[in-house]
Amino acid sequence: MIAEELRQLRDEINRHNHLYYVLDAPEISDAEYDQRMRRLMELEERHPELVTSDSPTQRVGAAPLEAFGAVAHRVPMLSLSNAFSEEELRAFDKRIKRMADLSEEEPVEYVAELKIDGLAVSLTYEQGVFAVGATRGDSSTGEVITQNLRTIRSIPLRLLTDSPLPLLEARGEVYMTKREFERINKEREISGDPLFANPRNSAAGSLRQLDPSVTASRRLESFMYAVGFFAGVDLPSHWHLLQYLKEAGFKTNATSQLCVDIEEVIRYCTDWRHKENDLPYNIDGVVVKVNSMGLQRSLGFVSRSPRWATAFKFPAEQRVTRILDISVNVGRTGAITPTAEMAPVEVDGSTVSRATLHNEDEIRRKDVRIGDWVVIQKAGDVIPDVVEVVKEKRTGEEWEFVFPTACPACGAEVYRPEGEAVARCTGVSCPAQLKEHIWHFASRGAMNIDHVGESLVEQFIERGLVKDVADLYYLTQGQLVGLERMAEKSAQNVLDAIHASKQPTLARLVYALGIRHVGEHVAEVLADHFGTLARLREATEEELSEVMEIGPRIAQSVAIFFRQSETVELLDKLDRAGVQPQEVEKEKTVSADSPISGKSFVFTGAMTGFDRKEAEALVKRLGGKASGSVSKRTDFVVVGDSPGSKYDKALELGVTVLTEEEFLQMLETAGAQ
Ligand code: NAD
Repeated sequence: MIAEELRQLRDEINRHNHLYYVLDAPEISDAEYDQRMRRLMELEERHPELVTSDSPTQRVGAAPLEAFGAVAHRVPMLSLSNAFSEEELRAFDKRIKRMADLSEEEPVEYVAELKIDGLAVSLTYEQGVFAVGATRGDSSTGEVITQNLRTIRSIPLRLLTDSPLPLLEARGEVYMTKREFERINKEREISGDPLFANPRNSAAGSLRQLDPSVTASRRLESFMYAVGFFAGVDLPSHWHLLQYLKEAGFKTNATSQLCVDIEEVIRYCTDWRHKENDLPYNIDGVVVKVNSMGLQRSLGFVSRSPRWATAFKFPAEQRVTRILDISVNVGRTGAITPTAEMAPVEVDGSTVSRATLHNEDEIRRKDVRIGDWVVIQKAGDVIPDVVEVVKEKRTGEEWEFVFPTACPACGAEVYRPEGEAVARCTGVSCPAQLKEHIWHFASRGAMNIDHVGESLVEQFIERGLVKDVADLYYLTQGQLVGLERMAEKSAQNVLDAIHASKQPTLARLVYALGIRHVGEHVAEVLADHFGTLARLREATEEELSEVMEIGPRIAQSVAIFFRQSETVELLDKLDRAGVQPQEVEKEKTVSADSPISGKSFVFTGAMTGFDRKEAEALVKRLGGKASGSVSKRTDFVVVGDSPGSKYDKALELGVTVLTEEEFLQMLETAGAQ
């Protein structure tokens, strides 16, 4: 149970890390992200035996994009621990005193700095000249963005010091002001480019550009607040360090303050929380650092953050408003998301009238009804969240929201698999999902249609040429030639490629239909088992779940998919267009009592005598099954050199383990050699 929650949390956080750090396009607010991260840390603290090395708690940021060169940081660029309340700040101070063997009464000096919501960078100067600039990356390796950083006016290309150090690495934040962010988004709106979610993403997107002239056209700012590698000067305190950076020509933040104790730090935090909106840039809290360098050194680091610093995060601003209605949206992948339509209210300086309710369970859990007064909070810059219902304000006039059973965009059945929070539309021709459907249908592992790229699909949809995937097969040369950058020759190439995909294997077609939970492997299992599309279409949920490797979730999803009238129409339309999958031949060359027939095999580790793919194909030809994961239903696990976790799983479940030689002997007996 706990292990499952941990796994889910890790997967989810890793996905958000990728969206945030690599793609600069977060889907959830920082507060929501922080909540999940906290939960993960708590669970791992209670169950240290379950901590894995790939857990997001063990890592900082994300690996650099390959398009940029990589540079190893001489000193890792770490993250910061968080404090979410005054009590947690006091607890941080107590911990430091305990570790430093100080009494409760002895004050520790801190420097409090605004935590600007930008992007951490490292600037290396050789003999006082700017040589290498990099992002934080995954903390040990960053992306080289020297040319882009050179376009930022406040980053000195040469330091002001008379006798520069041979090597100095300054660290700080590159950010974008709120005004510049608005200017750029306005420009992007006009040019039809996707808007940046907030100034941080905008700064990150501008800095991580392959073309420095784009960076130069966006006015980025910088503040330096730390050093990475440096030697040759004695800096007794962080406050001295800030003065040193300033004198060297860097821009430092004048709002930073030396505080005599943690109480002064707390006053600084409260002060800035109220003045936050007056600042020209976004902040997401205050960074608190032990001032004495000696004390910093003796406190040291834990895996992903220094012990001598913490980030105080401002609590999210909350407001009360009324829910006028609940609407539902269909996302690109068919996810149905309920949204609260509210009386407009101003939060964090902007007017909002919609808040996400996430999913049906959330609505039930919070007991949100139409007409309710609710507390909403806008954490970060994404769509706000409904925190809770103000039950005292209920009049009895409120009514419960009924979750739709049909998709609001196309009318197909809405399906919510057991154990999943998200309900999805099952429509094969749902307009909200059409683009995604066509990309998937044409992709390499599916129908493998060349020449049908992103912009072409967009044009097909915009011009109404394609309303479902079958329409691809009805396109004419005349329709294509009218499209952007499409001469006669290329139009013919597209038509030829579409035509060439008309006899796919059954597995490819099943995969191409984009049935939820049916990936390439499952599609193959289904095709192998049923042999023809007609038989697969007729299979009941029960029959489906009897197939080896097909669990109840997949069986339900497949059965629902094929019973939709839209699916029936689409398959007929495909058939009329001449899309006819090849039947699967059952090449049983051996009798049913051969040791391979009907048995399931899993291969793990490196095989010396044969290629794993070949062996899997051979097993299938001999009437057996080859699977990618070990379960109770597995008959044999064939183990090569340095086997992975599948081997452990086999031992755990008591599945028979075969060496490579034993497997070869078995093949011989089965008459395959
Ligand atoms: P962090 O919050 O742990 O803080 C470290 C960063 O603070 C530094 O790298 C630096 O960029 C910045 N900083 C600003 N002013 C500073 C100062 N004066 N001194 C030192 N550092 C300063 O940052 P992190 O490890 O990059 O990310 C964690 C945070 O990022 C999360 O708490 C979350 O809020 C956000 N995040 C959000 C999502 C999402 O999907 N919304 C995903 C990943 C991370």
